[in-house]
Order: sequence, then structure tokens, then C-alpha cells
Amino acid sequence: MSNSSHKHQPSGLASLLADPELLCEFAHINGQAVASSTGTDLAVSDPATGTAIGAIPSLEAEDAIAAVDAAEAAFEQWSGLLPQERAAILRRWFELMVDAREDLAQIMTAEQGKPLSEARGEIDYAASFIEFYSEEAKRPNIESVTSHLPDAEVEIWREPSGVAALITPWNFPSAMITRKAAAALAAGCTCVVHPSSETPYSATALAVLASRAGMPGGCFNVVTGKASTIVEPWTRDTRVRVLSFTGSTEIGRLLYRQSADTVKRLVMELGGHAPFIVFADADLDQAVAEAIKAKFATSGQDCLGANRFYIERPVYEAFCTRFARATAALSVGPGNTDPDIGPLMNERAIAKQKSHVEDAVAKGARLLTGGGGHAAGPLFFEPTVLADVPDNALIMKEETFGPVAALCAFDTEEEALSRANATEYGLVAYLHTNNPRRIYRASRRLQFGMVAVNRTKVTGAPIPFGGYKQSGMGREGARLGMEEFTEVKYVCRDWR
Ligand code: NAP
Repeated sequence: MSNSSHKHQPSGLASLLADPELLCEFAHINGQAVASSTGTDLAVSDPATGTAIGAIPSLEAEDAIAAVDAAEAAFEQWSGLLPQERAAILRRWFELMVDAREDLAQIMTAEQGKPLSEARGEIDYAASFIEFYSEEAKRPNIESVTSHLPDAEVEIWREPSGVAALITPWNFPSAMITRKAAAALAAGCTCVVHPSSETPYSATALAVLASRAGMPGGCFNVVTGKASTIVEPWTRDTRVRVLSFTGSTEIGRLLYRQSADTVKRLVMELGGHAPFIVFADADLDQAVAEAIKAKFATSGQDCLGANRFYIERPVYEAFCTRFARATAALSVGPGNTDPDIGPLMNERAIAKQKSHVEDAVAKGARLLTGGGGHAAGPLFFEPTVLADVPDNALIMKEETFGPVAALCAFDTEEEALSRANATEYGLVAYLHTNNPRRIYRASRRLQFGMVAVNRTKVTGAPIPFGGYKQSGMGREGARLGMEEFTEVKYVCRDWR
């Protein structure tokens, strides 16, 4: 690693920004902008056009360790601040994000591809975690317990765990970082962050703003580079006490194994494969409108994205027709034109859409709309609806992570719930019915960390986000999200 002595030549994107310094092409370690000592960079490109936006340093394992050194050194000072002092810095960070909303959204759309309105929404969502935890930082972290022993006073303390490693994906390049980092920092931890190499600029912009907010060097380090090179040393490092990962279940399993030797506390926010269940007594207009949001937000690249639609037979054809019509009306184009659907992240994503469509059709599904690449460019895929999709189709078993919806009919409540539960995933389930008893029964039966009834949007800073089964462990958001970054200490004092 070397301290940056030169600026990479900013791209055309910088000229769109009111504050071009937010487009930062350096890693951040110990409060310093850092370049690669070998001069090796990773290219960052705009998925809408395939053109290069710029590059970021491809750092090495020793840089990853240097970041832990910095975070460890900063821990004593940061955890020793009064909670209200930490809260004030977090609050300032939140305010700076709100002020920079438009620039941050432009950066996100350029590197991630999401429509500008969605990018602005993500900045608001991302900032809301910093605001929430700036307040939560001040809440009591000591609990008095009625003593079970004579002459003793019993207390439970929550202490910051130490250095936290945060590894985040490209589909929410800002919010997945703040949801972890704000909670960790509020608890008194310091962090080392590896953002996805596909979307690093949203992360480095956060580091610039954290610095301006007065965050001491070493508290929030952003280490760019090849993921396995950076993250593997963190899993082996005994000083890293918490590893919080958001990404695919496959990489989650790998990091779980790698972290076993150092017995780290783990938070895992992994894949989803959400069922969307519509009973015949539901408000069909509302169900169709919510289904469009549940399927096509983030161009379908959303861990909360509905993949499997189970529709009760009496309303099945009507739902198929209306949903396919609404899907066909969605606009597709580059994120900066603010369409409904932007590009997918990479060629792997396009290949997965194609394979899921071809496999379903080969197994008897009907293609109602879409089904192939879109004329807007190589990384665009048509919003697609498949009907009569059998349970053995790949799309009914795997996360599609794109704009393809699979619909099928069911006959009984029991059948719908057991098919919805027949998966290794358990992040969110969507349920549409106007029968209050069924709402209660189904909410109990569904093996998912989140159940959304007659609506799609359920997330926010005050709620515990997370999954059952192989969708992960631990929770983000809410008080619980902060407690993931703490150790419980029980103190029993004799007062005789
Ligand atoms: P991914 O491939 O698992 O990558 C996630 C992160 O892990 C990135 O920072 C990636 O870095 C890094 N990574 C990749 N290989 C690694 C390795 N061998 N060792 C250490 N780190 C490694 O997932 P993704 O494709 O970016 O994101 C999509 C997945 O995330 C989907 O499954 C989605 O459901 C899930 N997700 C879950 C939630 C949730 O809260 N449950 C939220 C959003 C997304 P590079 O990008 O640099 O390779």
C-alpha cells in the first residue's frame, strides 16, 4: 500500500457531481487515501454501457492486515468515547450523506446500474441506519437483574466486541455497508470493510464523508481489492472478533468455514428465494401491484425479490393476465434515464436468467411475456413472466436474482404453505389474503425471518432484518443489529 500521491484521472462521472471529491478512487486505511503499492488496479465499469468509469486499488493481504492494525489501534480511543460523543459523529455522518444525496445516487447508478430513483431511495435507506444507530448508541447498555444470590448485586453489561470485518455485495452498495457499520460503530467497535469490487465507489464515498464527519482514522477502513485476498486474512486474524457478511449463501458458507478456527461471532445475511402467495380472497389489484414491486425492484437483483408466485386456482388466470400485462409495460433502459428496470450486474446474471427461462419452458412452463435479452444492451434482460412453472424447474429451487417471475397455481392453504417452505432459504415471504385467521395461521407456519402481509415494503432501520435456515444468522437493524457487535459480560458483586 502507498499513500496516494496522485489522483487517478476522474472520469466523466466526476463532472456530473456537485462535489467531485466524492468520486474517490482510493482505498481508505487509518484515515488515509491509499493506492496499491504495486500499481495494480481493478477496473470499474458502468453496466449500462460497459464503459470504464475508473479504477480502484487492488490491495494485497498485507494491506488487509494493516487495516486491522489501524482498526485495533483506533478501538481503544473509539470505544472509550462517551456514547454521546460517538453519536454526534454518527449524526454528522448521516447529515453529510443527506446533503450529498444526489451525488451519491449518481455514483451508485453509474457503477451499479440501478435506476436513479431507486439509487436516491437507497441513499435515504442507507443514511437512515446511521441516523437510527446515532440515537441507539446512547441507550443504556447495562441491565440490572434481580439477584438470585444472597448479598449480591447482579448486572449484565454489553461491551463492544472489538474489530469487525464487514463484507458487502453490489446490489445495495451503500445500505449494506451502513446497516453494518453504523451498528458496529455505535456499539463502540471499529471496522474494516470489503465492498464488492463491482461497486467500490459508493463505499469510498462513505469513507470520505466519515472522515469529514470527524470519524477518527482507523475506525472505518475501506479495503478494496480481490475479495479472497483481502477477506481470507481477516477470517484468520484473532483480532477480528466479528465477521458480518452480506452476499450469496455459497460465499457465506465459505467464510463460516474459514472463521471456525478463530471462533468468530458471525452475522450472515445470505440469499433469499421468496415465495409470493396470493389467496382467492385477496384484493387482486393490490396483489398485482405489490407483486410488480416484489419482483422487479432493483431490476430483480434483490435478496428480498419474489421468485416463486403461488396463486390460488380460482384467481390464477386473472392474476397471470394482469401481472403479465403490468410486467410488459415496465420500461427498461440505462439507470440514468430513470426507467423501471436497469441493466443487470454482469454477464453471469444474464446467463442465469436465460438458463432459468429455458429450463422452465423445457419443463412445460408457458412464456407470457419477455424471455430474452433486451435491445438496450448486452446486460439488459426483458422483464419476463412464466406461468405453469413446475416445482422441479430450476427457478423454483434457486435464487434467479433478475427480472424473471415464475407463476404456478395451488389448491389448498396447506399445499401453498408447504410448497413455500420447501426450500433451504428463509429470508422473506409475501402473503396476500383478506382472511384474518389465515393471516395469523400462515404467518406462524411460514419458516421465514420476515413475513410481509398484503404489502411489499417492510424494511427500515428499526426492524430486525434477517433470515431463517440458510438465508443466514443474526439480525441487522433494530437494537438487535447493534447487539451483534457486543459481548455480554455478567458481573456479580458481593456487597457484604
Ligand atoms: P457474493 O458473490 O457472495 O459477494 C458478496 C461479497 O463477498 C462481495 O464483497 C464479494 O466481493 C465477496 N466475496 C466474493 N468471493 C469471496 C471470497 N472467496 N472470499 C471472501 N469474500 C468474497 O454475492 P453478490 O453476488 O455480490 O450478491 C448477491 C447475493 O447477495 C445474493 O445471493 C443475495 O441474495 C445476497 N444478498 C443478501 C442480502 C441479505 O440481507 N440477506 C442483501 C443483499 C444481497 P467481490 O464482489 O469483490 O467478488
